[in-house]
Amino acid sequence: MVDRPLTLMAVHAHPDDEATGTGGVLARYAAEGFRTVLVTCTDGSCGDAPGGIKPGEPGHDPAAVAALRREELEAACRVLKVGDLELLGYADSGMMGWPQNDAPGAFWNTPVPEAAARLAELMRYYRPDVVVTYDENGFYGHPDHIQAHRITMAAVAETGIPATAPRSAMAEFGRIVRELGGDWDLPEQDAPPAEDAAPPIGLPDEEISTWVDVTEFGPAKYEALKAHASQSENIFFLNLGVERFTQLMGRETFVRVRDSTGAPVPEEDLFAGLR
Ligand SMILES: [Zn+2]
Repeated sequence: MVDRPLTLMAVHAHPDDEATGTGGVLARYAAEGFRTVLVTCTDGSCGDAPGGIKPGEPGHDPAAVAALRREELEAACRVLKVGDLELLGYADSGMMGWPQNDAPGAFWNTPVPEAAARLAELMRYYRPDVVVTYDENGFYGHPDHIQAHRITMAAVAETGIPATAPRSAMAEFGRIVRELGGDWDLPEQDAPPAEDAAPPIGLPDEEISTWVDVTEFGPAKYEALKAHASQSENIFFLNLGVERFTQLMGRETFVRVRDSTGAPVPEEDLFAGLR
């Protein structure tokens, strides 16, 4: 046994990603007495303003959206019993091709080594045993998600913290979205331009190494997502109701990409080989 609690660090792009992608593992491992750390890279200012108002539309104030989403994020962290919330505070880059991509301070516009150095500092401080983030497609092609993947991989390589076993990519979610009727019902202007066709969401089963049952924490995950109700795409999931939501979202899956444990895969626990 080590002389500190085993620690899970989740690196996410926007406020609300922690709930949909990793709400179950954050709640489950906190309940098991592990330390959980959430790093949210951007301020979410390209999200909806109250009433579903989109960026660039009259009545969308990016600073007010960021402030509201921070409150929502803090509420979600209370529900999920996240031990520590760290905000990198980059500006939301918006979807691929948006002018916000190139704005000063935008996450996508920040050199990877610069943002990775800040994340590495947090990794040295918290010494996570497991780090989770998106796959290299950023899970569905959002620039901030791709950037979160890149800085996480760079920070992990830079710190080389002993016993760190980073895993990457939530895969199950894509299957659920398809199961719910094929397309994620994103508002029209959120769709990437046709020439940047979105990569497929999720991965084939045989590429998934880690299947975590979080059914018991489905209601907590639902409540955490409910904390982010200002975002129209979350309403889609909230409309399922807690029971159906738990049925569909009661398992979270990952792909182990770096490992120091040698634990056999497939596994059912992010901390396999570490406990
Ligand atoms: Zn996101």
